[in-house]
Amino acid sequence: MNHMIIRNKCPLCNSDKRIFYEVYKRWPNLPIYKCRDCKFVYSEKVPSKDEIFIAQGEFNFVKDGIENKTIDSLNSSLLLSLLHKKLRYLQIIKKIKRILCKLNKTTQRVLDVGCSVGGFLDLIKKEFNVETYGVDIFPKICEFNKLRGHKILCGFLEELKFDGIKFDIITFLEVLEHLPDPTAAVKTAYNLLNNKGLLVIEVPNLIYSTFKGKIEKNFIFKKLTKMEEWGLMPHIHYNHFSPEVLKSLLIKHGFKCIEIIPALYNESVEGCPRIIKIVYEKYTILCQYIHHITGMILSPNFILFATKL
Ligand SMILES: [Zn+2]
Repeated sequence: MNHMIIRNKCPLCNSDKRIFYEVYKRWPNLPIYKCRDCKFVYSEKVPSKDEIFIAQGEFNFVKDGIENKTIDSLNSSLLLSLLHKKLRYLQIIKKIKRILCKLNKTTQRVLDVGCSVGGFLDLIKKEFNVETYGVDIFPKICEFNKLRGHKILCGFLEELKFDGIKFDIITFLEVLEHLPDPTAAVKTAYNLLNNKGLLVIEVPNLIYSTFKGKIEKNFIFKKLTKMEEWGLMPHIHYNHFSPEVLKSLLIKHGFKCIEIIPALYNESVEGCPRIIKIVYEKYTILCQYIHHITGMILSPNFILFATKL
């Protein structure tokens, strides 16, 4: 990447006090730091908004990126992503229903930020019969979603104009970790929500990814599994949240945190022995029990539900 932006201050609290956190052999130029004040873990270098199209597009839709895809291949991407993510999407929808019921709230308009091929928007439209809005940075994805009945705006959330439209629910599912400025996204979401509106954020779990990164570095583990080193994936993830840090960020910007749960999400592990795949699949289920009994969140991803105060 040519135009990297250097974040030498914490993107959440602006402190310049930090300690080195991690660097991976695969990406020696992408060091990760931890803020001494708010404990946020962040990549020092992030691509500029122009470069992010290349970094994220190539990764998400392998090889030729999103913009060169046909409608047919976007359709198959949608099916593939639903296959991988449906269990977790249904987990989120079930929880949203419970929370809305508790709050005695009805829902008319939902916004999914970073909606990609629209798998979640499709499900939410079906379940709630609401107006569905999506935001994504890729024009091709936006056109694709419009064809399927969603209202779509193209660009970074904080730069878009909504003409006074407000939402009852805003979701960021695996999005906040990819943004150069996560604080701007949270502030904008606050302004776009109705009073008592619901914010749902799913992100990778810092605790899990850090631990996994340490194991992946191990020579014997590498030999046995033939797995590559991913760890915190600093080439596409720039913000690394623990449940506590995400919760504090939201409280700071006017939200009340209702609940944090481990996501029913299995990482796709390719090329490794079958036994490792089975362990990964069962691990996510095990995390649900661990959370139930101890309250600890050890899963690959976690989901936070908060309301606007
Ligand atoms: Zn900080």
